[in-house]
Amino acid sequence: MTVAEQAERTPAGARRARGILIASLASACGCDCVFCGLPDSRPHTVLPAGALRTALARPPGQADRWEEVNLTGGDPLVIPAARRLFPVLAAARSRFERLSVSTAGVPVTAALTGLSELCGHLGGTPLDLYVSLDGVGEVHDRVRRRPGAFADVSRFLAEARRHPGVAVALTCVINKLNVSALDELADHAAELALPVSYAVVNRSDHYINSLPLYRDVRLDAEQSARAADFLTRRSTQRLDTDLRRVLRGEPRTVPCRLLHKGVLLTSDGTTAICGTSQRMVLGGPLPADGTAQAWDEALARRPQLLAEGAAETCRTCTTNCYAWRNSDGPAPR
Ligand code: SF4
Ligand code: SF4
Repeated sequence: MTVAEQAERTPAGARRARGILIASLASACGCDCVFCGLPDSRPHTVLPAGALRTALARPPGQADRWEEVNLTGGDPLVIPAARRLFPVLAAARSRFERLSVSTAGVPVTAALTGLSELCGHLGGTPLDLYVSLDGVGEVHDRVRRRPGAFADVSRFLAEARRHPGVAVALTCVINKLNVSALDELADHAAELALPVSYAVVNRSDHYINSLPLYRDVRLDAEQSARAADFLTRRSTQRLDTDLRRVLRGEPRTVPCRLLHKGVLLTSDGTTAICGTSQRMVLGGPLPADGTAQAWDEALARRPQLLAEGAAETCRTCTTNCYAWRNSDGPAPR
């Protein structure tokens, strides 16, 4: 039985875990990726500690803890103001079963400082570390729009793997700039013996707001076919089967883990059931007073959003990253 199934089948009255909380701790990061609008967002925001505290304490469905908390950004390891939220997370350690962190690992010194601080606060908690890698050498630097990014992330990966309890996996966003160099990336990941989760650059009018950039980085028909061929040859992950389907113009079949049981809490305090569409926003920003009530009211809107057809966005979604990072995990329900 999977961890998720065990959590759901816990006898009545016993502790029960549910869903994933994706918490964007800060909107700033150390990169300027070709597909991401966050670096241009103003003003940059940092998640209020009270909002994070409330979210951690109030998982959906009257569960008493989250199946997983994922820290994201911006970059939660790199930005000092984001790192100052780690004690809030540590104080709520009993409120989640698993912890994961998404980072670019750039700049390396700041990212390693953040990782050490997180491990210091959450000592003994196993950590899934998802590190962005969009290519080898200059390809990665071009996608990240930061010279030296590949050298930085390479050093970060080497040092992060020495941390006890840290499991590293790579995430790659397939886009116009790297679609011709994916085999090099897959070879490099194989040499490092690291798994890779793939996504394809997606249109988003919320959270990372890719719309101003999307036209320049989206895949054309020939590139979509190339990406589908690559995934067929080089990935056996269940989610990538679904990704290939969408690239060929067919609807997704794997339901998103975030949509039905998860919450995305962005650093301005907005709650959503997805990061790709304004239609998926539950509410927010959460007020400083009455945070818990506003949180509960926001989560109560999920059935209404779903009834209004918000999930239609999922049929063509190629984000993947919100669903299952390690996509050979248990099937979402
Ligand atoms: S994808 Fe991540 S690292 Fe890249 S610009 Fe956006 S927040 Fe920063
Ligand atoms: S499948 Fe895509 S569009 Fe649907 S909720 Fe998940 S990330 Fe959002």
